[in-house]
Amino acid sequence: MLDVCLLGTGGVVPLPNRWLSSLLIKCNGRMMLIDCGEGTQISLRMAAWGFKAIDAILFTHYHADHIAGLPGLLLTLGNSGRAEPLTLLGPPGLKKIVEGLTVISPILPYELKLIELSIIESVETCLNDLVIKSLPVEHTLPCIAYSLELKRQGKFDVERAKHLKIPVNYWNRLQKGMTITLADQTIGPQMVLGELRKGIKVCYCTDTRPTIGLVEFIQDSDLFICEGMYGDQIDSGKAEQKKHMMFSEAGFLAKQGKVKELWLTHYSPSLTEPQEYIETVRTIFPKTIAAKDLLIKSINFTD
Ligand SMILES: [Zn+2]
Ligand SMILES: [Zn+2]
Repeated sequence: MLDVCLLGTGGVVPLPNRWLSSLLIKCNGRMMLIDCGEGTQISLRMAAWGFKAIDAILFTHYHADHIAGLPGLLLTLGNSGRAEPLTLLGPPGLKKIVEGLTVISPILPYELKLIELSIIESVETCLNDLVIKSLPVEHTLPCIAYSLELKRQGKFDVERAKHLKIPVNYWNRLQKGMTITLADQTIGPQMVLGELRKGIKVCYCTDTRPTIGLVEFIQDSDLFICEGMYGDQIDSGKAEQKKHMMFSEAGFLAKQGKVKELWLTHYSPSLTEPQEYIETVRTIFPKTIAAKDLLIKSINFTD
């Protein structure tokens, strides 16, 4: 199972009733965060999932509304007793940005591991139990969309395990993908597991114009969280110029990517009532939600 909490839905500046866009993901008791703008640690506190289990922060890009909250959160993690390393991932320039921001949070009781991702090609990384893929997108700064996948092992073949005379107390380890040694025999999970089954896939994409690469990248996602900077078509020129997306463009991506559900986020501060434009998007992609802060969802394996 994978749990997600959209901590905020704002773009550009935090507002009294709308925190900046950021996503918290929980899987097998561990968590990661995508983006950390000003005030994200307040919405994190409101979500009440705790801070200690956050092992990684992924950045889409380095505009202030996506990263200015980092030094404060780093200090809070330190004050909460964190000793384990924290991994930060983002486009090139991460090292320089973190050096700059940590001038005001210089002493941390844990190590920061920095991973700079390519802005030329898609990269795959494994963190905790999740496969994280990045995709360069099209914004005014180098920017990355993320997909997070929880893979699912194939079905355990009981008959095969019995035939191989594997004692029952070893089955669980094989089911988890581990290799076991029995007397003189090494048994790998592939010997008793069927084909990989459909896992869980969540994609997060802000800030960008819609790109052809995104359609394939988000293909068959269980949840696609995408920026909807503007709802009114009158703002389409602004979206093109500032490299952001309209509600309708997010809807078309969701439709072409055959995702199960679309959540819109990263609203312009001028967009006070996102709900006003939702019906238009639903004519393109019916399962669209104009997300609100702290929207949560638990996603289970389908069979
Ligand atoms: Zn932004
Ligand atoms: Zn931006």
